[in-house]
Amino acid sequence: MIKEYHNLTAREIAAGVKSRKFRAVEICRTALEKAFSAGKNLNAFITVTAELAQRQAEAIDARVISGEPVGPLAGVPVALKDNICLTGYPTTCASHILDGFTPPYDATCARRLCNAGAVIIGKTNMDEFAMGSSNENSYYGPCANPIREDLVPGGSSGGSAATVAARIAPLAYGSETGGSVRQPASFCGLCGLKPTYGGISRYGLVAFASSMDQIGPLARNTEDLALAYQTVCGRDEHDSTSVAFEHPDYLNLTSVERKFRFGLPMEFLGEGVDRDVKQNIETAIEQLRKRGHEIINISLPHSPLAIAVYYVIADAEASSNLARFDGVRYGLREEAEELEEMYRRTRSQGFGAEVKRRIMLGTYVLSAGYYDAYYYKAQQVRELIRRDFEQAFQKVDLLITPTAPTVAFSRGDKVSDPLAMYLSDIFTAPANLAGIPALSAPCGFTSEKLPVGLQFIGPPFGEAMLFQASYALEMILKENAVL
Ligand code: GLN
Repeated sequence: MIKEYHNLTAREIAAGVKSRKFRAVEICRTALEKAFSAGKNLNAFITVTAELAQRQAEAIDARVISGEPVGPLAGVPVALKDNICLTGYPTTCASHILDGFTPPYDATCARRLCNAGAVIIGKTNMDEFAMGSSNENSYYGPCANPIREDLVPGGSSGGSAATVAARIAPLAYGSETGGSVRQPASFCGLCGLKPTYGGISRYGLVAFASSMDQIGPLARNTEDLALAYQTVCGRDEHDSTSVAFEHPDYLNLTSVERKFRFGLPMEFLGEGVDRDVKQNIETAIEQLRKRGHEIINISLPHSPLAIAVYYVIADAEASSNLARFDGVRYGLREEAEELEEMYRRTRSQGFGAEVKRRIMLGTYVLSAGYYDAYYYKAQQVRELIRRDFEQAFQKVDLLITPTAPTVAFSRGDKVSDPLAMYLSDIFTAPANLAGIPALSAPCGFTSEKLPVGLQFIGPPFGEAMLFQASYALEMILKENAVL
């Protein structure tokens, strides 16, 4: 057990393993002990991949000893959301319907992590098929927030956020369709990135809404977040939507002591935002202004329509993507005399309530007679939302908004009111609809000591600016002893 593990960042672990200050197997043992203790209490993991982790850690140590090169994440414990495929271990998407399914291949993201020397310690809990904002829609039970266990960690990547916040691993990956990395990051006091659409390969990520899905990393600070993105981003021949972009060195966080021009969309700081959240965002903005960054008010006139548009498009795509879970191809099968009865039973037993609600809504908005009124209309408004951003980025470098209208709420608070739950995504979903990158960074605490997240939104492939802005904010908060 390594005593200082608790405080080590991913960069420090990799440097320590390379310089033989630590052995990867000791780091791994510490991480696994925590996964089995804290991780179990929080219900953060669906599977702990102990055997794989040990094997990977031993291999890294052997390479270090023989002087062979090791990657940028040498010996760094990493957790993956359980909708990211990893050969030989179940991928459940926190759904009963995938019982017994073990993928025969690695997601590109998982593969790149392994090639970079990472040690994969487990598959994390989540909302079923990534549908939810609280990690309460899991067949494996809810996951708790390590800051206060009666609170939700956010969702759908709740288990990944809890893993990093509880310091079981310095890095974890989640997935985003409408805010599922940024909102849990804000609820757990972490940094979380939703990359530009096409920034990280989706190969091996179980599809929810393919036109928005992206894998995204979570970390305790900006530098680790940049490292986590840098390691897995880039074109992949297995995903035709991944983009061949010349990625810069994202770890170059300070060399350009850049003064930003930030836009403050007035639609995002009005009604419905908790007072405490608003206050913390305003204080952070004031601090940025004092350091010479410029802040101007702007408008994103179509953003109030984002939630409605998001839930039409996401559910439409989900209803199509989830048609493949039929009792024949993957996982669970409920036996019956007739084929159709087998489909019916499997799907009615296998999917949870929220997933069924989405499939029904999605099927409805795609059906003849309603397609034009709902789905087609939503696609038109989606384009207007994208253009609002395009125009904003002609005037400013980045936008600042709260990540979520509230801080972490109590378990059970919103389960019986899906619409209230959907409103958690009000500030995050616009970036997914527009395909642009956004980052949530901690910016302060409420009077009850709960973390508040601030969101930076950037133009396509503006990740380098997002990291620099997040780093600038982090430095200010550290100086002011807020973090
Ligand atoms: N909370 C949103 C939803 O339920 C976002 C989910 C996500 O980003 N995967 O759809």
